[in-house]
Amino acid sequence: MSTKIDQSVETQATQSRTEPLTHDAIRNFLPPDNCLDGKTILVTGAGDGIGRVAALTYARYGATVLLLGRTSSKLEYVYDEIESFGGKQPAMLPMNLEGATYAEMQQLEGLINKEVGQLDGILHNAGMLGQLTPLEMYDVDMFAEVMKVNFTATFMLTQALLPLLKDADHGSIVFTSSTVGTHPRAFWGAYALSKQAVEGMSDIFTQETQNTTNLRFNCVNPGGTRTNMRAHAYPGENPMSLKTPEDIMPGYVCLMSDDSIGVRGQVIELQPKD
Ligand code: NAP
Repeated sequence: MSTKIDQSVETQATQSRTEPLTHDAIRNFLPPDNCLDGKTILVTGAGDGIGRVAALTYARYGATVLLLGRTSSKLEYVYDEIESFGGKQPAMLPMNLEGATYAEMQQLEGLINKEVGQLDGILHNAGMLGQLTPLEMYDVDMFAEVMKVNFTATFMLTQALLPLLKDADHGSIVFTSSTVGTHPRAFWGAYALSKQAVEGMSDIFTQETQNTTNLRFNCVNPGGTRTNMRAHAYPGENPMSLKTPEDIMPGYVCLMSDDSIGVRGQVIELQPKD
């Protein structure tokens, strides 16, 4: 399976690097070869689904990828895939975001600083669905778990890694939202609320940093994508009717490349409805 992006896509971003690209230009980005050369990018939930394909794709475009996830065997598999196509040597960072402490995340910052020396981007992709049930019946322990993995740990990890990101020329932080994060929907409970909180966090970080740093914070909404999570959420749906993670990679690459340095505080739908 190729993780290079199909060059038959027609639209190409022609705007200058400091102008904010349109969302169409981000979705249809045609990454130049090696456009992520020299960058170090951390991907959470890198062992499966969209995160796995994003990690492979970033490596294909020249990045050194730091693979964070909770299942070591899955990270090892992605590590081997990157090595097999000659990508830069990745690093595995096993971490269960549910139980991870702030002290562990600060240690991670120290480790990346010592062993790699730089961090140019984070794709906060790890996520869990939790229950699909009315809030009245939502299990409160499950609620806390979903909020921790999808939101609180995302905040903690961002804060812990900010010193490294601020040292980068143009640090890019990409959060992952969802349609139910932008428009909360009945029965989506903690998942929808956690994603809404993530969108708010991206907005606040943007306001707090845009005049004083080169950092950019944005959210992506992948839209319905063929993964295990989607199959659990919509068990009656034909997975073949959905885009694959590979299909939506142009936007993920664009937001890590220097072509998007003018893009700040956006929520970018990668599969907008017509
Ligand atoms: P997925 O196939 O279920 O993958 C989720 C990833 O997150 C896995 O690698 C998983 O690790 C990791 N993860 C879960 N809990 C974790 C924890 N406690 N600590 C560390 N890692 C953890 O889901 P996906 O569809 O690729 O979703 C990726 C992101 O896109 C999520 O944020 C999701 O909310 C969002 N999204 C997806 C869709 C869609 O249609 N697929 C639509 C909108 C938004 P393990 O494999 O080790 O469990």
